[in-house]
Amino acid sequence: MSFDKIRDPRKLRHQIGDMECDYIYTAGVAGERFYIALRDEGKLLATRCDKCNITFMPPRLYCDKCFAELTNYKEVPSTGIIDSYTITYLDMNGEALPDPMVLAFIKIDQTDGGLIHKISDIKPESLKIGTKFEAVLEDKSKRKGGLTDIKYFRPV
Ligand SMILES: [Zn+2]
Repeated sequence: MSFDKIRDPRKLRHQIGDMECDYIYTAGVAGERFYIALRDEGKLLATRCDKCNITFMPPRLYCDKCFAELTNYKEVPSTGIIDSYTITYLDMNGEALPDPMVLAFIKIDQTDGGLIHKISDIKPESLKIGTKFEAVLEDKSKRKGGLTDIKYFRPV
């Protein structure tokens, strides 16, 4: 593996194969709490800054505006509206998908943020910004403490 810094973007290339990875990614304090609540209790947590009147989804440890530490976690609905979306017809290897897949940013109700996730149970041509969706969770026994504990969002 090369550790040389690429300074000329024309020299960028890709490699096929496994990449060494000798670090552990952590979700952080707020992210860990979010994923544990999702895995163990099947609920979405957000943090709130009352001073700035912002409810962070996913939760953050500090407010972006006033830098206050946020310790006020609250459960929020697993529903929201589509704020934007894209339709993909190819998988990550460029192969045609059997059915188009819709990925959307869902603005979660009672928050100022949202989640990017798969959309299901609706024809892509029927999608409209502002349509209400709800999270469909993985069976509790199969949850792993990640965003995939939400299988997809479907119309309410
Ligand atoms: Zn704030």
